[in-house]
Amino acid sequence: MKSTIVTIGDEILIGQILDTNSRYISQALNRIGVVVAERTSIGDSGEQIVATLDRALAQSDVVIITGGLGPTKDDITKHTLARYFNSELIYNEQVGSFVEQLLSRRGIAFTELNRGQAMVPQCCTVLHNGHGTAPGMWFERDGKVVISLPGVPFEMRHLIDDSVVPMLQERFELKAIVHRTMITSGIPESLLAERIAQWEDNLPQVLHLAYLPAPNIVRLRLSAYEVEEQSAKELIDSEFDKLREIIPEAIVGFENATVEELVHRWMIENGKTLSVAESCTGGAVASKFTAMAGASAYFHAGVVSYSNEAKRDILGVDMEDIIRYGAVSETVAIQMAEGAKRAGGSDYAISTTGIAGPTGGSAEKPVGTVWFGVATPKGSFAVMKNCGTDRQQIIDRAVAHAIKLLYDNL
Ligand code: ATP
Ligand code: MG
Repeated sequence: MKSTIVTIGDEILIGQILDTNSRYISQALNRIGVVVAERTSIGDSGEQIVATLDRALAQSDVVIITGGLGPTKDDITKHTLARYFNSELIYNEQVGSFVEQLLSRRGIAFTELNRGQAMVPQCCTVLHNGHGTAPGMWFERDGKVVISLPGVPFEMRHLIDDSVVPMLQERFELKAIVHRTMITSGIPESLLAERIAQWEDNLPQVLHLAYLPAPNIVRLRLSAYEVEEQSAKELIDSEFDKLREIIPEAIVGFENATVEELVHRWMIENGKTLSVAESCTGGAVASKFTAMAGASAYFHAGVVSYSNEAKRDILGVDMEDIIRYGAVSETVAIQMAEGAKRAGGSDYAISTTGIAGPTGGSAEKPVGTVWFGVATPKGSFAVMKNCGTDRQQIIDRAVAHAIKLLYDNL
């Protein structure tokens, strides 16, 4: 069964807000086996709503719309839908008294505008919105369903979870959609594609493969649409088992686990501790760890030593080495990692020192050059990697590479 998601609002089109509603609805529909064929965002315009509905209903069995249900004049979805389904707007007592109650609890007077929110197209089934003043609406025509939800994200989420999902499951006989994601690291996308080309060519027809590259990571997702759940899961598992033999060194996890999560788990399970010293990444490596609940069990210290003096005074890097080899160098990266390990009193430490640009590069050390230091209970070393050309790209890649380097050396 196919669906289309339509989000309405000029604020989406001008880039003022991010359309997070579509993502939430997509995830919910995938969980219950409804294929999302298209997502589209349109302006607050009646004509556009009608044209989009016509197109969406031609290809989909279910259309879910969010936005444009408020009491203000720019919110026109409801009037447009009433006309679309040749229906009168009538006052709904239940919605009216709920809105009145909700407003009085907040000490707000019930106005003519709010009364308007209790006006709903006669032909629709009202979906109770327990968290806001605009109700959800469920329309049916020729076996197809159009659902209109408020744009406010938390109101939309409650309506999806409490009403839309159970009602769709009740109304239609849904099959399953199965997605599984393998996380690989260390092999660039194009090389990975070459290594697994034969495996990919021999995948069963029902399985669809997607490559999702991120800094230092390539996710491989296998999807099966509208299938019997258990057998699809087994089929995907058996294909991933084959991959384990082809790229054993590259597999770092499944689903959404990130490399930092793997390090996090390893540190906790093994009772080891970590500190970091950062220059070009400015604390971004540390924040990857501290963002995870429970990091205090192992994360001791993060030092952002941006200046040469800070590298010397806080981490004990030798100023003569900085002058002789440069702050972006093997020896400084090692001394930073060792300094962080010592200052933080931890078992492990990693460091970053590089040229994030756009200025500061040279022929010998171009923008993007980053040295990474790793200090472990067994000793220290550093490696260099060019992390790109754009400042943000360089920082993101450096963060990912530093964490992967640590993970590989645990
Ligand atoms: P209300 O009854 O509160 O007026 P509404 O249905 O009229 O709800 P909108 O006016 O379209 O909803 O949007 C309300 C707010 O919800 C917007 O200011 C916006 O911040 C947020 N919002 C709307 N659509 C989306 C979306 N697709 N993704 C994320 N946020 C959204
Ligand atoms: Mg709006």
